[in-house]
Amino acid sequence: MAARLIKGGEISKQIREEIGKEIEELKEKQGITPGLATILVGADPGSKVYVGQKEKACNNLGIYSARTDVPEDTSEADLLDMVNKFNDDPKIHGLLVQLPLPKHISAERVIYAINPDKDVDCFHPVNVGKLMIGTGRFLPCTPHGIMELLKRSDIETAGKHTVVVGRSNIVGKPIANLMLQSPPGGNSTVTLCHTGTKDLAAFTRMADILIVAIGQPKAITGDMVKDGVVVIDVGVNRIGKTPEGKGILAGDVDFDSVEKKASAITPVPGGVGPMTITMLMRNTIEAAKLTL
Ligand code: NDP
Repeated sequence: MAARLIKGGEISKQIREEIGKEIEELKEKQGITPGLATILVGADPGSKVYVGQKEKACNNLGIYSARTDVPEDTSEADLLDMVNKFNDDPKIHGLLVQLPLPKHISAERVIYAINPDKDVDCFHPVNVGKLMIGTGRFLPCTPHGIMELLKRSDIETAGKHTVVVGRSNIVGKPIANLMLQSPPGGNSTVTLCHTGTKDLAAFTRMADILIVAIGQPKAITGDMVKDGVVVIDVGVNRIGKTPEGKGILAGDVDFDSVEKKASAITPVPGGVGPMTITMLMRNTIEAAKLTL
């Protein structure tokens, strides 16, 4: 039986409508326009696309957007000055510095410099710690997006065995954490796999919910999952180009073989991807509310 598709595009649209109404209310009742500042160092094409998408989402929703693009050879001291300027700017509620940064700049020092109350990416150790103990004001965007996809698709997580593959600080570790938190968290039993895991398939086959974020195209195949599994594929891998020159994307999951066994699955593109920027907008509103 073909799996149900978890359509991130549709769910994201629904959340953006809710966000739009909240922004109107904040403007009318509180006189606050949520503001997001982005800093892009250098001209990495992927980063430029992401920053552009964030700016566009702000404009569409009525969030004030301050975008600063600076050259690759910007010094760390100058970048820290910019961060501090936005930290002090009352029009700015959320601040993010697009990663990766050039090698001569310490991403760690830059992240530490962001006011945790404006850290809408949820990378600052204060916010990472709060996430860990279940008192997070902001949740990291992609993991938060996954939680919303599950909730809004009526997928029960409590009491299930969730297997996460990938232990990055941006996706794997935080989603494992959210899935194991007591309600309103996932309340799942969680296994976290990585390159040190022996016999990965033995673990993925045990999953009721399988979340994959490894950056390896089509690495999880149909023989590695059990019937009825719910699959969240975070991976975005460029695997070639169409004759017209358009990029072809693949997830970390081999969709064709896995969807035959899954009960529900996210497509790539159109699954997790659309949720990430939507949750960034959500965090910007939460940051604005902190100033009330
Ligand atoms: P990272 O490269 O930071 O981390 C990958 C993790 O996967 C590492 O922990 C690594 O293990 C583990 N890993 C790699 N290969 C294997 C393997 N064969 N078996 C088991 N574990 C493996 O990646 P990210 O978490 O940042 O991103 C993962 C994917 O998700 C990428 O394709 C990325 O593009 C995509 N992504 C999509 C987003 C979206 O909005 N849709 C947002 C963020 C990421 P180890 O630690 O041992 O090296």
